[in-house]
Amino acid sequence: MLSYRELDPAGIRGVVFDIDDTVTRNGVLEPDAYAAMHRLADAGFELVAVTGRPLGWTDVIARLWPVRAAVGENGAGWAWVDDAGTHEGYFCDAAERAKQAALLDTIRRKVATRMPGIKTTNDHRHRRCDLAFDVGESVSLPRAEIDALVGLIEGLGARTSVSTVHAHAIPGPWDKAEGVARALRDVLDIDLDAELERWVFVGDSGNDAAAFERFPKSVGVANIRDHLDRLPVPPRYVTDGDRGRGFAEIALRLADHRG
Ligand SMILES: [Mg+2]
Repeated sequence: MLSYRELDPAGIRGVVFDIDDTVTRNGVLEPDAYAAMHRLADAGFELVAVTGRPLGWTDVIARLWPVRAAVGENGAGWAWVDDAGTHEGYFCDAAERAKQAALLDTIRRKVATRMPGIKTTNDHRHRRCDLAFDVGESVSLPRAEIDALVGLIEGLGARTSVSTVHAHAIPGPWDKAEGVARALRDVLDIDLDAELERWVFVGDSGNDAAAFERFPKSVGVANIRDHLDRLPVPPRYVTDGDRGRGFAEIALRLADHRG
């Protein structure tokens, strides 16, 4: 990985960033990172937050943060605000989402029966398209138990994604990178693939893998070094600081370049 100082800031249009442990520390938004978001937005950059957190949270983030869109549940949907009000978009249509909800219901019941010690996450009631189990947030499950949970979910027909805190049952074909691409088309009428070189992605862990692969200008905050074994493609650049401090480093480099 190269130092973030090697990233050429010329021509960058926007910054897509993960939330947990990219702009937060112990679950709390870091002041340096929040100030840096405002610097970027004030300098004219388009900001997009993308997270495994619930779609209910993205409604709030789109209203409160200086972002053009907030993508949630690892790409399943997004929220944005414009002069007409608050809007939501989804990767799959309503009929598909109804089928996916039935599958998640089956998974929820089977996990409760076969692995009664495993609980859904405490942000569960704000989710609309996926189902997440707590593996490392308020409990610390052994690797073997997480593997058994993943096996059970996949055996029932859903994909899985495991972050440092949650194991997600994913009933549709979305991922963080494709969710961002759809959101940009939906919200800003942007064809991401036609201008990938103009976007920077910043993330921190294994559940950012799809975005590290998609964005040629991908940046890991310094704590990415703890997760390199779970990334088929590492980020191209890495910051000196960890979490929100690292995000602020790359953000200020871009904002300063624009002046
Ligand atoms: Mg993260």
